[in-house]
Amino acid sequence: MPSKLLDALLLAMPLSPTLESWRQHLIKHLNYPVQGAQSLFIGDPVLVIVSFQHDRAEVLLPAMEWRHHDMQTTKPSSRGMVDDRSGSLEQLLALVEECIALRLKSFHECSHCGKRCAPEDLGSLMGEPTCRECLRGRRVLF
Ligand SMILES: [Zn+2]
Repeated sequence: MPSKLLDALLLAMPLSPTLESWRQHLIKHLNYPVQGAQSLFIGDPVLVIVSFQHDRAEVLLPAMEWRHHDMQTTKPSSRGMVDDRSGSLEQLLALVEECIALRLKSFHECSHCGKRCAPEDLGSLMGEPTCRECLRGRRVLF
Protein backbone atom coordinates (compact mmCIF):
# COMPACT_ATOMS: atom_id res chain seq x y z
CA MET A 1 0.00 0.00 0.00
CA PRO A 2 1.36 3.43 -0.81
CA SER A 3 2.11 5.61 2.18
CA LYS A 4 -0.27 8.46 3.00
CA LEU A 5 2.26 10.92 1.61
CA LEU A 6 2.65 8.99 -1.62
CA ASP A 7 -1.12 8.73 -1.93
CA ALA A 8 -1.40 12.51 -1.53
CA LEU A 9 1.27 13.12 -4.14
CA LEU A 10 -0.39 10.74 -6.56
CA LEU A 11 -3.68 12.56 -6.12
CA ALA A 12 -2.12 15.62 -7.70
CA MET A 13 -1.75 13.62 -10.88
CA PRO A 14 -5.01 13.58 -12.87
CA LEU A 15 -6.36 10.21 -13.95
CA SER A 16 -7.38 9.56 -17.54
CA PRO A 17 -11.14 10.02 -18.13
CA THR A 18 -11.48 6.23 -18.47
CA LEU A 19 -9.79 5.55 -15.13
CA GLU A 20 -11.74 8.32 -13.44
CA SER A 21 -15.02 6.83 -14.69
CA TRP A 22 -13.97 3.39 -13.38
CA ARG A 23 -13.05 4.95 -10.05
CA GLN A 24 -16.43 6.68 -9.80
CA HIS A 25 -18.19 3.44 -10.71
CA LEU A 26 -16.44 1.59 -7.88
CA ILE A 27 -17.27 4.34 -5.39
CA LYS A 28 -20.94 4.51 -6.35
CA HIS A 29 -21.96 1.02 -7.38
CA LEU A 30 -20.41 -1.41 -4.94
CA ASN A 31 -22.45 -2.46 -1.94
CA TYR A 32 -19.55 -1.79 0.39
CA PRO A 33 -18.24 1.31 2.13
CA VAL A 34 -15.33 2.81 0.19
CA GLN A 35 -12.51 4.90 1.63
CA GLY A 36 -9.51 6.55 0.05
CA ALA A 37 -9.02 8.44 -3.18
CA GLN A 38 -6.18 7.33 -5.40
CA SER A 39 -6.27 3.95 -3.71
CA LEU A 40 -9.77 2.77 -2.87
CA PHE A 41 -10.17 0.64 0.23
CA ILE A 42 -13.40 -1.25 -0.33
CA GLY A 43 -15.34 -2.88 2.51
CA ASP A 44 -15.12 -2.68 6.28
CA PRO A 45 -13.02 -4.65 7.13
CA VAL A 46 -11.24 -3.98 3.83
CA LEU A 47 -12.03 -6.70 1.29
CA VAL A 48 -10.20 -5.38 -1.73
CA ILE A 49 -7.93 -2.46 -2.58
CA VAL A 50 -7.99 -0.85 -6.02
CA SER A 51 -4.98 1.34 -6.64
CA PHE A 52 -5.17 3.81 -9.53
CA GLN A 53 -1.96 4.69 -11.32
CA HIS A 54 -1.73 7.04 -14.27
CA ASP A 55 -2.63 4.50 -16.95
CA ARG A 56 -3.95 1.49 -15.07
CA ALA A 57 -5.80 0.20 -12.07
CA GLU A 58 -4.31 -2.50 -9.86
CA VAL A 59 -6.46 -4.84 -7.77
CA LEU A 60 -4.92 -5.93 -4.48
CA LEU A 61 -5.91 -8.48 -1.90
CA PRO A 62 -5.48 -7.02 1.58
CA ALA A 63 -3.74 -9.10 4.20
CA MET A 64 -3.50 -7.77 7.71
CA GLU A 65 -0.94 -8.89 10.24
CA TRP A 66 -0.63 -8.20 13.91
CA ARG A 67 2.75 -6.84 14.75
CA HIS A 68 1.98 -5.88 18.31
CA HIS A 69 -1.23 -6.88 19.95
CA ASP A 70 -3.06 -3.78 18.84
CA MET A 71 -1.22 -2.68 15.75
CA GLN A 72 -1.83 -4.04 12.31
CA THR A 73 0.12 -3.72 9.13
CA THR A 74 -1.14 -4.40 5.65
CA LYS A 75 0.74 -6.43 3.14
CA PRO A 76 -1.51 -6.44 0.10
CA SER A 77 -0.75 -8.80 -2.76
CA SER A 78 -1.52 -7.92 -6.36
CA ARG A 79 -4.31 -9.87 -8.09
CA GLY A 80 -3.89 -8.16 -11.44
CA MET A 81 -3.87 -4.91 -13.34
CA VAL A 82 -6.26 -3.45 -15.88
CA ASP A 83 -4.88 -1.06 -18.46
CA ASP A 84 -7.07 1.91 -19.36
CA ARG A 85 -6.58 1.34 -23.12
CA SER A 86 -6.67 -2.43 -23.59
CA GLY A 87 -8.75 -3.22 -20.53
CA SER A 88 -12.39 -2.68 -19.62
CA LEU A 89 -14.51 -1.86 -16.60
CA GLU A 90 -15.93 -5.40 -16.82
CA GLN A 91 -12.43 -6.84 -16.44
CA LEU A 92 -11.77 -4.60 -13.47
CA LEU A 93 -15.07 -5.56 -11.80
CA ALA A 94 -14.38 -9.26 -12.41
CA LEU A 95 -11.00 -8.93 -10.70
CA VAL A 96 -12.55 -6.99 -7.83
CA GLU A 97 -15.24 -9.66 -7.31
CA GLU A 98 -12.69 -12.46 -7.49
CA CYS A 99 -10.59 -10.69 -4.90
CA ILE A 100 -13.58 -10.08 -2.57
CA ALA A 101 -14.54 -13.78 -2.82
CA LEU A 102 -10.98 -14.83 -1.99
CA ARG A 103 -10.84 -12.46 0.96
CA LEU A 104 -14.21 -13.63 2.33
CA LYS A 105 -12.95 -17.23 2.18
CA SER A 106 -10.24 -16.28 4.67
CA PHE A 107 -12.89 -15.14 7.18
CA HIS A 108 -13.78 -17.44 10.07
CA GLU A 109 -16.66 -17.67 12.48
CA CYS A 110 -16.16 -16.65 16.08
CA SER A 111 -16.75 -19.75 18.15
CA HIS A 112 -18.57 -17.67 20.78
CA CYS A 113 -20.92 -15.28 18.93
CA GLY A 114 -20.83 -16.82 15.47
CA LYS A 115 -19.92 -13.60 13.70
CA ARG A 116 -17.77 -14.06 10.59
CA CYS A 117 -14.58 -12.10 11.04
CA ALA A 118 -11.49 -11.21 9.07
CA PRO A 119 -8.54 -13.33 10.24
CA GLU A 120 -6.85 -10.25 11.73
CA ASP A 121 -9.92 -9.66 13.94
CA LEU A 122 -9.83 -13.13 15.44
CA GLY A 123 -7.79 -14.22 18.37
CA SER A 124 -8.14 -17.44 20.23
CA LEU A 125 -9.58 -18.37 23.56
CA MET A 126 -8.66 -21.83 24.80
CA GLY A 127 -7.82 -22.84 21.28
CA GLU A 128 -11.11 -21.64 19.78
CA PRO A 129 -11.27 -18.78 17.27
CA THR A 130 -12.75 -15.79 19.08
CA CYS A 131 -13.55 -12.30 17.82
CA ARG A 132 -12.18 -9.11 19.33
CA GLU A 133 -15.49 -8.15 20.92
CA CYS A 134 -15.76 -11.49 22.70
CA LEU A 135 -12.13 -11.23 23.83
CA ARG A 136 -12.46 -7.68 25.10
CA GLY A 137 -12.10 -7.46 28.84
CA ARG A 138 -10.71 -10.95 29.16
CA ARG A 139 -7.08 -9.81 29.26
CA VAL A 140 -6.24 -12.09 26.42
CA LEU A 141 -3.61 -10.81 24.05
CA PHE A 142 -3.45 -11.81 20.45
ZN1 LIG B 1 -17.45 -13.22 19.00
